[in-house]
Amino acid sequence: MTAPLVLLVEDEAPIRRFLRASFVDQNYRLVEAESGAQGLRAAAQQPPDLVILDLGLPDMDGQDFLQRLREWYRGPIIILSARDQEKQKIMALDHGADDYLTKPFSTGELLARMRVALRHAAHPAGEPGSSAFTVGALKVDLAARRVFVGNHEIHLTPLEYKLLGILVQHAGKVLTHRFLLKEVWGPHHLHETHYVRVFMASLRRKLEADPAEPRYLLTEPGVGYRLAGE
Ligand code: CA
Repeated sequence: MTAPLVLLVEDEAPIRRFLRASFVDQNYRLVEAESGAQGLRAAAQQPPDLVILDLGLPDMDGQDFLQRLREWYRGPIIILSARDQEKQKIMALDHGADDYLTKPFSTGELLARMRVALRHAAHPAGEPGSSAFTVGALKVDLAARRVFVGNHEIHLTPLEYKLLGILVQHAGKVLTHRFLLKEVWGPHHLHETHYVRVFMASLRRKLEADPAEPRYLLTEPGVGYRLAGE
């Protein structure tokens, strides 16, 4: 198998240098771009398996970059954002980014997110040939619509199952409140954040050994939720 090709769009040379070393170490092939224009050109020339995008680019709004890339690119995109870019980060996730890290971040964390994103891109849950999703003791049989923790079958209400199904389809990915509301409750309930909170709490009571310390249904503070991907 060829090493995955990663496109890193980041104007700060020290960050590129620091990531370059770990990527080479992990056998990723790397293309670097210092500006949005360079990044879009590089992606078109040689479509990458994964894109890492700094939201603060010198020549282009990171959101514009993301939208232009998402017009044709289906692979995973991981956002790097600064601490004061909370709103942009959420917008980026709504515009099709898969995940985010806030600077400063650890390389170990980035590499873990990259592994999950690449694995998910290679084997999307719910596609033909992958009718079951498993993480830890949690198993969701998508074809039969049955949910197990260990050998124990868990009964979910139709809405709980719908919410879990969306999380499974996007396992490992951060999903915003807005996205979950749109997918589960429809476009007229985009501000009813408490719906998600209530249903997530009941899913946790049914699926987690300790609902206060969830292992599967993770909170992304201020952003939304993520189903653990590994
Ligand atoms: Ca920057």
